[in-house]
Amino acid sequence: MRAKSPALDRFRIVAAVLVTAIHTSPLATYTADGDFFLTRVLARLAVPFFFLVTGYFLSRSEWSSLPRFLKKTGLLYLAAMLLYLPLNLYSRNLSGWENMVRGILFDGTFYHLWYFPAVLLGSLLSFLLSRRGPRFALTAAGLLYLIGLGGDSYYGLISSLPFGKACYDILLSVSAYTRNGVFFAPLFLLLGAYAKRRNPRLCLVGFLLSFAAMSVEAFLLRAAEAQRHDSMYLLLPFCSLFLFSLLLSRNSGQNRDARRFSAVFYVVHPWCIVLVRGAAEVLGLEAVLVRNSLGHFLAVLLLSAAVSLSAVFFLPRRPSETGRAWCEIDLRALRSNTFLLQRKAGAHSSLMAVIKADAYGHGAIPCARTLRRCGVRAFAVATLEEGIALRRAAVRGTILILGYTPPEEADLLVRWRLTQAVMDEPYARQLAAQGRRVIVHVAVDTGMHRIGIPVEEVAAFRRIYRLPHLRFTGIFSHLCTANGRSPEEKSFAQMQTNAFLQLVSVLRSCGCPVGDTHLLASAGILRFPPQPCSHVRAGLALFGAWETQEERDESCGLRPVLSLRARIVSVRRLETGERAGYGLAFEAMRPTVLATVSIGYADGLPRNLAARGGEVLLHGKRVPIVGRLCMDQLLIDATDAGETHGGEIVTLIGRDGEERISAEELAGRCGTITNELFSRLGSRLGRCILP
Ligand SMILES: *Cc1c(COP(=O)(O)O)cnc(C)c1O
Repeated sequence: MRAKSPALDRFRIVAAVLVTAIHTSPLATYTADGDFFLTRVLARLAVPFFFLVTGYFLSRSEWSSLPRFLKKTGLLYLAAMLLYLPLNLYSRNLSGWENMVRGILFDGTFYHLWYFPAVLLGSLLSFLLSRRGPRFALTAAGLLYLIGLGGDSYYGLISSLPFGKACYDILLSVSAYTRNGVFFAPLFLLLGAYAKRRNPRLCLVGFLLSFAAMSVEAFLLRAAEAQRHDSMYLLLPFCSLFLFSLLLSRNSGQNRDARRFSAVFYVVHPWCIVLVRGAAEVLGLEAVLVRNSLGHFLAVLLLSAAVSLSAVFFLPRRPSETGRAWCEIDLRALRSNTFLLQRKAGAHSSLMAVIKADAYGHGAIPCARTLRRCGVRAFAVATLEEGIALRRAAVRGTILILGYTPPEEADLLVRWRLTQAVMDEPYARQLAAQGRRVIVHVAVDTGMHRIGIPVEEVAAFRRIYRLPHLRFTGIFSHLCTANGRSPEEKSFAQMQTNAFLQLVSVLRSCGCPVGDTHLLASAGILRFPPQPCSHVRAGLALFGAWETQEERDESCGLRPVLSLRARIVSVRRLETGERAGYGLAFEAMRPTVLATVSIGYADGLPRNLAARGGEVLLHGKRVPIVGRLCMDQLLIDATDAGETHGGEIVTLIGRDGEERISAEELAGRCGTITNELFSRLGSRLGRCILP
């Protein structure tokens, strides 16, 4: 696979150096204008850049990583506050509890630490705003930014207006600056969240023009003596967005060491300023290391870099998601499939997204958030736990539990506003007997004989609708031969459909509150004409997959969402006649390059894959899996794939270069269907969400 150029992560280091420049004024000894340009204009791009990348990465997982991010950043903030406690005590900065609270919530307790409360508060606010859609979120954040501007670079102009000064003085008594998590951070976080790859040349031109304009803006404001502070400009969001898009257009992969380095650098550089000053005094080098601004800057830079490098080296780190074996999830494909299925469902039906079994192994929370953004308002899962997990992740809308929930759990159904499927008449009675106002959809057995009240027992339905407490909001059935091609299968599906629609109209005419109706699942949506139902229930098709290779219809335009990849562990050469693996099941029929791959049946691959002629992609070529599949590893014959070494990536499902292995192919080989294959992909696999 392609060489990686993690432009975004690398630029973090540049941004950290720019922040150091702000705090050391490298050119102050030589030119006041030059220093203003460097530290109050150019370097002001640094912190917005940090917010943009943060927003970008948070939105890539549809904000599902927000809790982890908040926790991690909160801990780092706590550590940083402790680190600067000695300096604060020494300078008696934190007198009075009011100051303390304000310091912790907004100003960060030490001058550069304001970034942490800003990113914590800002990302929370941005997440809440983004739930109302991009336009609303960006408008709201833009307005907040404009308010912030009045307390920053434009204070001089605003405070000359009637009430201007009074209003801002109230604001500024709460937070020392308007550059904080409410007025400053959300706009940049959201710009990052909605940023897309664009033409790099366009971005460069846009950046140069907007930066030139921002420089003019800054010098004019300085000349007018309007600036109370100098970190917000009208043109800063534009400049930052162009710069970010430029880097994004060149970005691939990540460099986590660069991330850690820049984070530590940011935190420690003010301590390094203190240490450099102290050392200069002790050594009598103040002329070079303190009074000369460039010397001072360079000394601080070197010391900060040394400290950060050692920290990167010594601090513990989390394993990478793409280190061993992982699923790659393409949320763009999920979006495109969602729109396609919505069109197929017809104008009168809306999509109910079936995201049981962790969205068929694709990750229920990021998928649910993506689906919501595409306008999906109804979801279905299999279990109570799956439903609660979605609610805990703030997924709104209908969540129908298709599987069994013990009636005694009725209070949980009510508490989490989950809709329960009614399995049969006895179940309905038990549920009603709990005395809780449970929302239910009634299942109808139209011939599958799995769950539901038999379609012909109209009297049973009427008894159920008279039960107390239950709130009926829907009725549904399920086809069991929708993907069959034979005339019998087709006519059975037709019979089920007719029976269901007939029942619904009878119940309606008896005044039963049937509510929403739904019948078709993926195969039905794709193969049958739209039905007069309120919803269709799409599961597998959302993920761009079909149950089997035979059904797969490339022309319909669904795109696969999941790729499965793993690393090569080790490579060795076997002579002709040498054997390998459990039971020595593989025998080399020629001089063979044998590579071990870090994925096995404990990750969800069917164990018979090797015996059934399974293949993987290496360097864009198909190579066979050989020997017996192990729990955590498998062997491939890499002889024909060119020079191979440990750490390289092989593809089990998905595309590599021109070649592709579909999930249907893999499932078909093992005698199963994609649904089973996906739902068994183990929790041990990493999950990496594509931008
Ligand atoms: C799983 C399930 C679905 C979704 O089926 P797909 O074929 O994956 O679209 C729909 N309805 C019910 C009742 C289900 O159990």
